Amino acid sequence: MEYRAPLRDMHFVLHEVMAAETLWQSMPGTAEFSASVVDAVLEEGARLTSELIAPLNPTGDREGVRLHQGGVATPEGYREAYRTLAEGGWVGLGGNPEYGGQGLPVMVTTLFEEMLQSASGAFALYVILTSGAALCLDTHGSEAMRAHCLPRLYSGDWTAAMCLTEAHAGSDLGLLRTRAEPLEGGRYRLAGTKIFITGGEHDLTENILYLVLARLPDAPEGSRGISLFLVSKFLLDEEGRPGERNAVHCGALEEKMGIHGSSTCVMHFDDAVGELIGEPHRGLEAMFTMMNDERLSVGLQGLGAAERAWQLSLAYARERRQGRAPGDPGRSRAEADPILVHADVRRMLLTQKAWVEGGRAFAAHCGRQLDLARHHPDASQRQRAGAMVALLTPLAKAFMTDRGMEGCLLAQQVFGGHGYIREWGVEQLVRDVRISQIYEGTNGIQAMDLLGRRVVADGGEVLGWLLEDIRDFLAGEGAALEAELRDPVRAAVDQLESLTRWLVAEATEDAHLVSAAAVDYLEALGRLLYGYLWARMAAVARRQLAAGGGEEGFYQAKLDTARFYMERLLPKVASLCQVMRQGSAATMAIAAEHLGP
Ligand SMILES: Cc1cc2nc3c(=O)[nH]c(=O)nc-3n(C[C@H](O)[C@H](O)[C@H](O)COP(=O)(O)OP(=O)(O)OC[C@H]3O[C@@H](n4cnc5c(N)ncnc54)[C@H](O)[C@@H]3O)c2cc1C
Repeated sequence: MEYRAPLRDMHFVLHEVMAAETLWQSMPGTAEFSASVVDAVLEEGARLTSELIAPLNPTGDREGVRLHQGGVATPEGYREAYRTLAEGGWVGLGGNPEYGGQGLPVMVTTLFEEMLQSASGAFALYVILTSGAALCLDTHGSEAMRAHCLPRLYSGDWTAAMCLTEAHAGSDLGLLRTRAEPLEGGRYRLAGTKIFITGGEHDLTENILYLVLARLPDAPEGSRGISLFLVSKFLLDEEGRPGERNAVHCGALEEKMGIHGSSTCVMHFDDAVGELIGEPHRGLEAMFTMMNDERLSVGLQGLGAAERAWQLSLAYARERRQGRAPGDPGRSRAEADPILVHADVRRMLLTQKAWVEGGRAFAAHCGRQLDLARHHPDASQRQRAGAMVALLTPLAKAFMTDRGMEGCLLAQQVFGGHGYIREWGVEQLVRDVRISQIYEGTNGIQAMDLLGRRVVADGGEVLGWLLEDIRDFLAGEGAALEAELRDPVRAAVDQLESLTRWLVAEATEDAHLVSAAAVDYLEALGRLLYGYLWARMAAVARRQLAAGGGEEGFYQAKLDTARFYMERLLPKVASLCQVMRQGSAATMAIAAEHLGP
């Protein structure tokens, strides 16, 4: 079955729920964007992703990447597709217009990225890493770096890779050992080996840029002694033209569970020549510009895969006939009814629908905060939105990918045995989406970042702003909603607020509390936020139905799904809170040597 971009739902989120055009026209940096321009962009994005990229997904999975003549060959069709996409401006969709980017608001780029991820998660990685590296260079690079690199990254002449991980340094980057020795002329010589580097080598473009974390000779220990360097596969001359081959090579390709079309490389830097990006020893901070951008993109990988799986399983559930609808044996003359009639299949379908449509609204909500942080004319509003982005980023990465995995598994279950075999494509989605929970900082690390650094460290202040926003909505626009769509959200806000107060106080006494509670906390807050967004979507749907402008089926389905969410998915917040209040004692009690034989 072909991928069909959910354009109607995207319009609903962007225009009806987020009132994007009104926001853009109120800010100088985005005032040129109208709903009609953006809709035309999304329509073209939908055409390209469904016609050009989606067909490469199953073939890319079967063919995979391979070492070839000292380089890496990507699956057939990847090279042409990458060029077409870049020439159309899609790699630089959110990029800086001064250097050839399109400068579209993040609320729009998230929607396009979702389509790209639905079409092919493996292919999308080459695009998202390149646009993330461009953002990092634009923010922290020298003028020459911006002038030489950004136009080539946006145009698709070059791609970029992110080089953090080493064999002994994964989550703990403070352990990394790659060294950078100063050379004459302000350059550096880099030596070390990075592993698991996505897009480290490939045949899509003539050059590859590497953003590499390494240590200078006088560097302090740990994460405070890390600097960021730009290494080009081919050394760049004064004008930024690639010439001689640099001493960076792919030593091996990893064999993986999924995303077979994406190259995952062991990269050797054998005295490769590089340049410093930003200030010495401040590399991790600069790299976070790229990592935070990738975290939202990886969240969208979860969402995109779940959307594709949802489309496949809904179509299947409409066709597949097994069993009779209970309670009405004489109704159907067919031997069996479509499995859609069974409540348990409904449960699986509605859960997917709630996560996918809730996730789309959540991604747009994150995009809105990023747009405000970049473009709002008032500095205090930019700062507030920036703090909100810091709070939402670990959620965007971890909650969207956890729900992405859940959605793909539910779709596979809807298919029964047919979901386990290759033919229908759901099996590939399950394999491909799994990595999204692991890379770009595992979801456990995201949860600790959320609870430890974003909530407990500031005594819950920024979280308090978010809870206040939710309460304001419930007291204002949400007050017109039926109690069943409003009260569960209010209850979850109260539960989470009281739990947060308890955690902030207890964390000073119990050193393991944050780590023990983090994953549950992230899930509870994610469920609450989706609940808030479902209530907002329900309020819009209720208004549209009252206005009688048509599309009753679409809006009624929003209300029905919101109700399902409030009754079946939101109440888990209470039990998660209860679990967290147990503290860390039971988790830490057992002696390490007694955990197993
Ligand atoms: C296909 C693929 C592509 C990748 N692409 C890139 C790339 O392009 N660039 C790049 O630099 N890296 C890349 N990575 C690396 C990836 O980001 C890391 O694998 C990931 O960050 C986890 O590091 P690790 O594998 O060393 O696990 P570890 O850090 O060893 O973690 C193991 C387990 O311990 C937990 N853990 C670790 N520390 C703590 C702690 N302090 N508290 C609580 N729990 C903890 C983790 O959550 C995890 O469950 C890629 C990996 C893969 C598999």
